[in-house]
Amino acid sequence: MDTGSHESMSFREGIDRMVDRASLAIGLNPETAKVIQACNAVIQLKFPVGIDGNVEVFTGWWAIHSAHRLPAKGGLRFAPLVNQDETEGLAALMSYKCAIADIPFGGAKGGLLINPGDYTEDQLRKIVRQFTMELARRDFINPATNVPAPDFGTSSREMAWIADTYKALFPDDVNRDACVTGKPLNRGGVPGRTEATGKGVQYALQEFFRHAERVADAGLSDGLSSQRIVIQGLGNVGYHAAKYLAEEDGSTIIAIIERDGVVVNEDGLNVHDVRQYLAETGGLKGFPAGNYSAQGEQALEMECDILIPAALESQVHAGNAMRIKAKLIVEAANGPVTYQADEILRERGITILPDIFVNAGGVTVSYFEWTRNLSHMRFGRLQRGLDELRGMNYLAALESLTGKQTPENLRREIMRGANELDLIRSGLDDTMRMAFRDIVEMLRHHPNISDYRTAAYAIAINKMAQSYYELGLAEPL
Ligand code: NAD
Repeated sequence: MDTGSHESMSFREGIDRMVDRASLAIGLNPETAKVIQACNAVIQLKFPVGIDGNVEVFTGWWAIHSAHRLPAKGGLRFAPLVNQDETEGLAALMSYKCAIADIPFGGAKGGLLINPGDYTEDQLRKIVRQFTMELARRDFINPATNVPAPDFGTSSREMAWIADTYKALFPDDVNRDACVTGKPLNRGGVPGRTEATGKGVQYALQEFFRHAERVADAGLSDGLSSQRIVIQGLGNVGYHAAKYLAEEDGSTIIAIIERDGVVVNEDGLNVHDVRQYLAETGGLKGFPAGNYSAQGEQALEMECDILIPAALESQVHAGNAMRIKAKLIVEAANGPVTYQADEILRERGITILPDIFVNAGGVTVSYFEWTRNLSHMRFGRLQRGLDELRGMNYLAALESLTGKQTPENLRREIMRGANELDLIRSGLDDTMRMAFRDIVEMLRHHPNISDYRTAAYAIAINKMAQSYYELGLAEPL
């Protein structure tokens, strides 16, 4: 697949240009913009691991873009095309994302140059343990300073291995569980983290559709239930976003693009069945309830209402941006639209909800997991019983005053104390709503800004500039 050979700048440079654009719009001092753009630290590791009697040398990176807030937080990516420029760019996106979602973290990112599919589970565990040791020994994994999370090519399984390795190295660190987020539930994880990014994509879209004038501006009508969606990448983020949008909002997923091509069904695909088929066969070819084509990249250009790229960066680039027909692009992946493509799409009036807002659900719930690990107590433990008691008293008072019985379904709801998943979902929904409203406010009050990406960047760099100013590192705003 073409990942942007039409571009004249690297991934990280493209992100810097987006910052430049927003800085210009809000009149930020160029020197301050440079402070914000600079990647604070990056480490490259080359480490040997014995694999079946041979020794292989692996290359990995950890980039800290900003450390004005700690820990620096970012996903750990395992992919065969990882490089330093990409890792630095993704770390920068994390800084801006945390600022928009009001998460008190700096931005970081990790990468390991590997095709995980080439290794057995035992071999992968060995590689992850060694990578963790190399990073932790240099303080690049630590609950107070550097906390990775799952990203492309990694999941709760790898996070469990990281946590276990850290625990073996630092057993007397009482906060050791907080050295990584996205862990399995029984190893310090929280309910709702696995699906958090996809759920956040759904909440972002739900909030967008609550703003009728914004929906109309994008050339869309009606609610989420009448939208026809094309999604690229049915991994963690893409699967959960597509599943919730189809099952809970009634949207129609008309095409799913994966590594080996695309499957199309204008009447709607069953996301769960496609995922199952993908897991069993390793591809989409032959999926019975849709038409398969090996031309996955071309399917990005399909006629649809919403395009959700949820795989990798630079999928919409200068070479195909002119042919995109979606009215709304929702960036579930990091950086799926290049800077040059963004310029073309803006010119063409196509609306884009940017990655630094749309996929902030992952780091938001990671933040909840980190704070829960530090508190060593599950959310709601102290107040759930009290909430239930209040509900019962409220019901009793209501029924004695009215002389009527409350219907059973309402009675159950009123008497139920929120469980941990309820609290996490509520915090995630609230974060996505507030972030979108901030973006809309910026658009409303800033005459120089007319697109969501520039508005989102303007919010992020404003907050970061203020933070650097307070530290004496930037000019006053
Ligand atoms: P994942 O590894 O779980 O899934 C990626 C999916 O994309 C896989 O199904 C893979 O087969 C597919 N894919 C790979 N190359 C493709 C291609 N060329 N065309 C179509 N499909 C392709 O990864 P993920 O965690 O879902 O991450 C996806 C994107 O979301 C990445 O950009 C990542 O940085 C971003 N993201 C992830 C999280 C998270 O919590 N996991 C949070 C924020 C952002």
